Amino acid sequence: MSESEARPSNFIRQIIDKDLANGAHATVHTRFPPEPNGYLHIGHAKSICLNFGIAKDYQGQCNLRFDDTNPEKEDIEYVESIKNDVNWLGFQWDGEVCYSSDYFDRLHGYAVELIEKGLAYVEELSPDEIREYRGTLTAPGKHSPYRDRSVEENIALFEKMKNGGFEEGKACLRAKIDMASPFMVMRDPVIYRVRFAHHHQTGDKWCIYPMYDFTHCISDALEGITHSLCTLEFQDNRRLYDWVLDNITIECQPRQYEFSRLNLEYTVMSKRKLSQLVSENLVNGWDDPRMPTISGLRRRGYTPASIREFCKRIGVTKQENTIEMGSLESCVRDDLNENAPRAMAVLDPVKLVIENYAEGEIETLIAPNHPNKPEMGEREVPFSREIWIEREDFREEANKKYKRLVLGKEVRLRNAYMVKAERCEKDEDGNITTIFCTYDPETLGKDPADGRKPKGVIHWVSADAGVEAEIRLYDRLFTIANPGGADDFAATINPESLSVTHGYVEPSLKAGTAEQAFQFERMGYFCVDRKDSTADALVFNRTVGLRDTWAKIEAK
Ligand code: ATP
Ligand code: MG
Repeated sequence: MSESEARPSNFIRQIIDKDLANGAHATVHTRFPPEPNGYLHIGHAKSICLNFGIAKDYQGQCNLRFDDTNPEKEDIEYVESIKNDVNWLGFQWDGEVCYSSDYFDRLHGYAVELIEKGLAYVEELSPDEIREYRGTLTAPGKHSPYRDRSVEENIALFEKMKNGGFEEGKACLRAKIDMASPFMVMRDPVIYRVRFAHHHQTGDKWCIYPMYDFTHCISDALEGITHSLCTLEFQDNRRLYDWVLDNITIECQPRQYEFSRLNLEYTVMSKRKLSQLVSENLVNGWDDPRMPTISGLRRRGYTPASIREFCKRIGVTKQENTIEMGSLESCVRDDLNENAPRAMAVLDPVKLVIENYAEGEIETLIAPNHPNKPEMGEREVPFSREIWIEREDFREEANKKYKRLVLGKEVRLRNAYMVKAERCEKDEDGNITTIFCTYDPETLGKDPADGRKPKGVIHWVSADAGVEAEIRLYDRLFTIANPGGADDFAATINPESLSVTHGYVEPSLKAGTAEQAFQFERMGYFCVDRKDSTADALVFNRTVGLRDTWAKIEAK
């Protein structure tokens, strides 16, 4: 396995080491808190590997908690896909799945506690006025005329909100903190709002919903989370996180730590943009193999181990940075190079006829499944008079650098004999239709006795016994490194990000199971498409090429 064994080290693990050493905590308890408003992407994998990885390495616990306070944007489909993706990545949450909505009753109670302490009030300014009163980074905010209502009045109005007595936008509950704070999040943040929306967990029970900042810290505390890990954009919100917990009656005091999000070149990671790609049919669903979603990467042929290894290699820091797509690709290439069995497939076929080979005969050759791993076994590969080879593997004339089949020269057929090209036939447009060869029967698995050397080795598939297959060649979804920064990111989609070809594969591939990965010799890594491939109509997805061809393109 290429996944490195060593435990990662990062600033968060150093904090945990210290907390455990000085007795601040006896055990570690983390959580992964997705909002079920889209499918998980490779950025989430970073957070998953961090949170679940810490729990695993420190014999602690990690919860899966759905942060579900926006009923209009959320859906049970996303809940299910997220659970599935976390498991597929190789992680299991402790206990039952948690939902912030499990705590709606208690959150409501804590809001009432703040009101009773004079620390929250019902606001009746409009959303626009609230924004205007908030001030700017350079100017302090103004007090709302509703800020100094009595506790009794606030209790009654909050009750009215809860009972549906206010339309959306007509009232909200705000924490009473400091309208002059240099941290905008502390300028009397809204903590509850009115939404007449059906919720995927609580149905129509509530028409008021708590805001993220109020919900998250309390959910952490109720679950006994010790280290609440989130991305850097929540740095300022930490003040509010601590303020809420300091001002309510709650036992546990989790601490929030921030790390930088994963950004990847040639893709987008915002759920809004990903969901736009899906809803506008710019891709074929959330699991389109070009998507940076976990389900897309999975369908593309990425393995869980390769994604975990990627997360390990990029590390966890506070530095903002953007990772090259090549780093992700090299993780799956390393894994598959070790673990994927080899097979032969011809993607752009041209017929080759071996004229001195018996007509109708099919010979069974034996090929190793992996060049350096005999333990991976062997397979049978049928050989016949007519075979398919890659169109680009033959030329009528070529210079010395071309190590493939050339008229009048010899080449080795992988796992088989040496053949010599004698002549070729073309159609009226000049396209080569058939190559005629002779073979040397003395060269199966050995060099000829007279010391002749073939120019190179090419792959092939028997035309009699080979199987036709649809092969989907995927490339990067965008043509520019930072599509998220473009005015119209959809306009930067790579029109060549998917091309479909029909080729021939050796018959052993009929036994391939859904998602099984292979190295098609000389062509790259491919997997059996988990949705569309059947025994009678094989479909393969190209996961990645054998080498990083983009590195060369980018260097130019
Ligand atoms: P949105 O794109 O809708 O703002 P989000 O990407 O923050 O949402 P959440 O479902 O809230 O999505 O994320 C769950 C967890 O995953 C959070 O803790 C978040 O910080 C983390 N996370 C999300 N994106 C990344 C990323 N690119 N890199 C690292 N962690 C991420
Ligand atoms: Mg979020």
